[in-house]
Amino acid sequence: MDETIAAISTPVGEAGLAVIRVSGPGALALADRIFVSRRGQPSGFKTHTVHLGAVGQDRRAVDQVMLTVMRAPHTYTGEDVVEISCHGGLLPARATLALCLQNGARLAEPGEFTKRAFLNGRLDLTQAEAVMDLIQSRTERAHTAALHALQGRLSAKVNAIRDQLVTILAHFEAHIDFPEEDISPNVRAQLNQQIKSIIGQLADLLRTAREGRILRKGIVTAIVGRPNVGKSSLLNALLGEERAIVTPIPGTTRDTIEEFADIRGIPFRLIDTAGVRNARGKIEQMGVLRSEASAYRCELLLHVLDSSRRFTSADESIAKHHDGKIVILVLNKTDLRRQLTLPQMLNNIPQVQVSARTGCGIDVLKETLAEQTVGNQIGHSHLDITINERHAAAIKSTIKWLTDADNEAETGASHEIIVQQIRLALDSVGEVVGKTTTEDILAKIFSTFCIGK
Ligand code: GDP
Repeated sequence: MDETIAAISTPVGEAGLAVIRVSGPGALALADRIFVSRRGQPSGFKTHTVHLGAVGQDRRAVDQVMLTVMRAPHTYTGEDVVEISCHGGLLPARATLALCLQNGARLAEPGEFTKRAFLNGRLDLTQAEAVMDLIQSRTERAHTAALHALQGRLSAKVNAIRDQLVTILAHFEAHIDFPEEDISPNVRAQLNQQIKSIIGQLADLLRTAREGRILRKGIVTAIVGRPNVGKSSLLNALLGEERAIVTPIPGTTRDTIEEFADIRGIPFRLIDTAGVRNARGKIEQMGVLRSEASAYRCELLLHVLDSSRRFTSADESIAKHHDGKIVILVLNKTDLRRQLTLPQMLNNIPQVQVSARTGCGIDVLKETLAEQTVGNQIGHSHLDITINERHAAAIKSTIKWLTDADNEAETGASHEIIVQQIRLALDSVGEVVGKTTTEDILAKIFSTFCIGK
């Protein structure tokens, strides 16, 4: 990390400000070359101070800016950092970045600032990942979960587990060196108990994976039903604004539409599907195919029925797609006189009566959506932590090694074998926080970041 890196850290486009971030051993020298102010040179400025001046070169100013100097080690990356707040918009930001690149910096790779923060010990890996989750979070609950991870809650839990494992390991290792003194049966029973308790703690963590996935990716929800029951109208009612085209002609929703909705803090990805029926037109056939495909890969089905009409065979054939999914029956058009009688087979499925036209019942539907998908788990789980897929994989292999160690210990296997398995468990759990990581893992994580972060 002897190179100095620079990037525009704000989004492209017109805005009040744009921030160019520079980090590395040459950051201050670089700033000395391009920044002019009455108060002297950046290398002479105190750490964590802000200064008004101009950036430019050869007496040609590019922009008037505020320059912030932050010296190592108390910075985001742990290195010397200079942040230049210039005027927003493409030209001032690009020209300022170009000056940095001509004066000793190279363009930062995606996530490189955060990667340096990790490599310099400013953040562990769960916190680095949380930075990205925080940037991408779209609902309040997702935001809170990411913030908790950034504050180190997951790290604290994982590190506590590592510490317990290290202590257990030390016990077994001590007896490899002094084989003549075997571990007393009491201590041995205690150690076995501790291993089991750690497996339990890891299993608790693993159970938060689903919540974590939902908060990061959203719940894929297909709105299905025969034509004209009010699927598009329902989507609009849930979104609270006009999106899909609503029309009284059956089968006119030509394609699937995916929309994001924040319902009670939970991210939902709502897919409006074209009416599932015997389609004739080509475009419509495509729509039907897509609607079946999305019904297949979704986790939740909102099966919409027209309560002002009788139950039909088309409704019945859609009900055949219910298997393996969370289903909510939405009985729409309750503002009209009821004609619908539900068949026996649908009686056990949660149902909500709504009118997409008047908005009646939409609140109850939102409540039901939240309840049926995550219940009260999210934000209320006693752990207050959610893990991602990478963490889950590492935790699963930790559990596997510890279960092996536990079985060996129960059958009185040699300490060498147990020690080896506990070491493997330590390595696996260490992957979560980044104590044991390969360059591959790091590359994979940070490549998903944006440039400038
Ligand atoms: P889709 O084919 O299932 O997407 O159905 P649409 O949302 O396009 O609605 C079909 C027709 O039903 C339109 O004329 C809507 O205005 C009407 N509609 C939708 N919801 C309601 C409702 O709650 N009450 C009444 N009376 N009409 C509705």
